[in-house]
Amino acid sequence: MSEEKKNGFEGCSFTTRAIHVGSEHDPASGAIEPSIYMANSFLLPYDPSTMNWSASEANIYTRNGGVNQGMLERKVADLHGGEDCVCLASGVAALSALFFTKLKKGDHVIFSTVTYIATYRIFNELWGEKWGIETSKVDCTDVEKIKAAIKPNTKLIHFETPGNPTLCICDIEAIVELAHEKGIWVSVDNTFSSPYNTRPLEYGVDFVVESLTKYINGHGDSMGGAIIADRETCEAVRYQAQVNIGGVISPFNAWLIQRGAATFPLRMQVHNDNALAVAQWLEKQPCVSFVAYPGLESFKGHELAKKQMKHGFGGVLSFGLKGGHDLFNRVVTHLKIFASAVSLGNTGSLIVFLGEDDERMYLYPEEFHGGFYRVAIGIEDKNDLINDLRQAFKAEGLETAD
Ligand SMILES: *Cc1c(COP(=O)(O)O)cnc(C)c1O
Repeated sequence: MSEEKKNGFEGCSFTTRAIHVGSEHDPASGAIEPSIYMANSFLLPYDPSTMNWSASEANIYTRNGGVNQGMLERKVADLHGGEDCVCLASGVAALSALFFTKLKKGDHVIFSTVTYIATYRIFNELWGEKWGIETSKVDCTDVEKIKAAIKPNTKLIHFETPGNPTLCICDIEAIVELAHEKGIWVSVDNTFSSPYNTRPLEYGVDFVVESLTKYINGHGDSMGGAIIADRETCEAVRYQAQVNIGGVISPFNAWLIQRGAATFPLRMQVHNDNALAVAQWLEKQPCVSFVAYPGLESFKGHELAKKQMKHGFGGVLSFGLKGGHDLFNRVVTHLKIFASAVSLGNTGSLIVFLGEDDERMYLYPEEFHGGFYRVAIGIEDKNDLINDLRQAFKAEGLETAD
């Protein structure tokens, strides 16, 4: 690849960099788009005894690193303005690799009451018992509560903002200030906001985790996860977790995600705009019991979200209907555009009903307790999405207002 292609994007905007950084021309063929290197190992030098087996830039075996993985890592590090990045097989692989690398027996972790289910399980049930790590679930929207939960052995504060699925907003700057005063690390799972809206490293956060499965890939067809941090942390994650636990991303998935990332800023703006329009429409409907979306003025974290979300408030919202479990299920059967499925960040819109059986329901605000929808707004025409919801409400005889 030309040095120009590699290094010529200083001073370019986020959109330009998302297209070019890391997506290198193929040096062997001259193809302007990167090839997919589906190999599990690479040729060793003539005399392998001269090699540094643990150098991360040496291609040896795909579980240690590879060409497509490296390209994606350079791109995602750049999207976040980070020094380095490790990409793994899924967002959860990235979360657990980070925690595995940074935490040890006897450490205490403060984690938010609103997190992705795997994060909740890792800290709430699995790691405490197995590895002797002490944990506290804390409402991280309240800095005073975090302060009160800090212990002499607290090592890490971990949260999402917006949080999945209540969309609650945490004050990144205030939490970093509190934590760093006491030598505590802060990690943010930035999946709902994405680096287009929020770059937590700019607030001094130590580690950022992103599920690449969602907005950065954006097409609902592959999984990946990233840790964006300083070089030393990323090297430690590679050496300890990537190689020895092995949650490595396949070259094909890494290639798909770097391909998706080129349009990520453009898509993200549409997710932002569409979700705001749908949330504002939902809020006016008499049959809707509540809408949680950080872009709504009525939302508790709105002012903070305006401060730390640059271009919009993301593509996910949650809402309730005045009615029971059955009504929620029946309405979904009438939807023509929305698919009833988990995940988010796809081009197509998704909706999922989360009922009382969610073990974490008691941790959420009161209005969520009767069950609710989590909606991942896609990049279709926003009027089509609103029309689809309206006809589904009407099909169940629910009261709507245009
Ligand atoms: C989806 C998601 C994850 C997990 O990512 P996978 O790629 O599915 O493993 C982690 N955190 C948040 C906030 C998510 O939405």
